[in-house]
Amino acid sequence: MARIVMKFGGTSVADLDRIKNVARHVKREVDAGHEVAVVVSAMSGKTNELVGWVQGTPKVVGANSPFYDAREYDAVVASGEQVTSGLLAIALQAMDINARSWQGWQIPIRTDNAHGAARILEIDGSDIIKRMGEGQVAVIAGFQGLGPDNRIATLGRGGSDTSAVAIAAAVKADRCDIYTDVDGVYTTDPRIVPQARRLKKIAFEEMLEMASLGAKVLQVRSVELAMVHKVRTFVRSSFEDPDAPGMGDLLNPPGTLICDEDEIVEQEVVTGIAYAKDEAQISLRRLADRPGVSAAIFGPLAESHINVDMIVQNISEDGSKTDMTFTVPSGDVDKAIKVLGENKEKIGYDVVQNESGLVKVSVIGIGMRSHAGVAATAFKALADKGINIKAITTSEIKISILIDGPYAELAVRTLHSCYGLDKN
Ligand code: ASP
Ligand code: MG
Repeated sequence: MARIVMKFGGTSVADLDRIKNVARHVKREVDAGHEVAVVVSAMSGKTNELVGWVQGTPKVVGANSPFYDAREYDAVVASGEQVTSGLLAIALQAMDINARSWQGWQIPIRTDNAHGAARILEIDGSDIIKRMGEGQVAVIAGFQGLGPDNRIATLGRGGSDTSAVAIAAAVKADRCDIYTDVDGVYTTDPRIVPQARRLKKIAFEEMLEMASLGAKVLQVRSVELAMVHKVRTFVRSSFEDPDAPGMGDLLNPPGTLICDEDEIVEQEVVTGIAYAKDEAQISLRRLADRPGVSAAIFGPLAESHINVDMIVQNISEDGSKTDMTFTVPSGDVDKAIKVLGENKEKIGYDVVQNESGLVKVSVIGIGMRSHAGVAATAFKALADKGINIKAITTSEIKISILIDGPYAELAVRTLHSCYGLDKN
């Protein structure tokens, strides 16, 4: 017997038929004798609709203000998960399974006060553990918790992945299964590279890079949590027949296991290729090369909530002037240029240049820690295709390369095949 947390995303609970199908997945595990907690998202499209409603309401704080009360935003957008948790509990009861729904505040899942993008602080798993022990399935609304102000707080878009992993950690589950509309994590986006392979296993660190560098399978924070609490997490499909052979396999269910790197015996040098579109590059020319310039640039950008990614600074030739280039999401360029303009005196640069529509492609793999020449292979392969590199950053387990947007797909395909990731 095991304790399993099963999470179902929006497409998996998109309508009543899909919810019935989810109930069959749950029944399979219950019938096998496991203790089960289920975490659900809202029906696909629902959260967008709710967010749209909030954005369409009259603005309270002056006619042109984009702001609304974030606590009321949370009250509205958390409702999608309340609906699916109740509907799934009903569907389970209709199959003679003892089940009940739980809202975030009932458990409770305690969060901080950052309404709209709250972080989970603490989960009291005791009630759920007790009920599971009595054979009751807990159907938990994902994406929501209870803030210190005693009001509903949501965890940011895609947050029900994080709910699931956090609950798995809190109830000390043996496994957290994330059911979605794809059957696992692939070496790269199969829509771009049909030869992409499904990975059997991927290390937490690699998955964290994949998620933060553009792969959209899991919310980044959920991977961080899984890594910290060592929650063995499976990404698998809810669209397969719930009773197909192997679906209930306790140790090797179909899908991709995200796990500790020690569990991965045959470690490839490169595990996957990720890409992020809509990057923009900003360059400050002829900056004074003195202590404090970086702080003068990136401090005000951070205060304006502009997310800076790659940063490249030249070594100055004569020790007096240098250049600084960095990337931000394309949508933030105008804001960034404005902030830099306001701080021109303080920073002390000559001109600022920018370019949008760029793409960052990244090569990821724990194996590169112990292998030389991984970056050189990428540079040569891209050069052979005539793809120009605009900026490079590296870490122990990843190489990120900034290129012109129109070359994105060619670059992803090229990198995927140059590391032998294409399936035969
Ligand atoms: N329903 C929420 C969203 O669409 C949370 C989730 O699906 O993970 O962002
Ligand atoms: Mg999701």
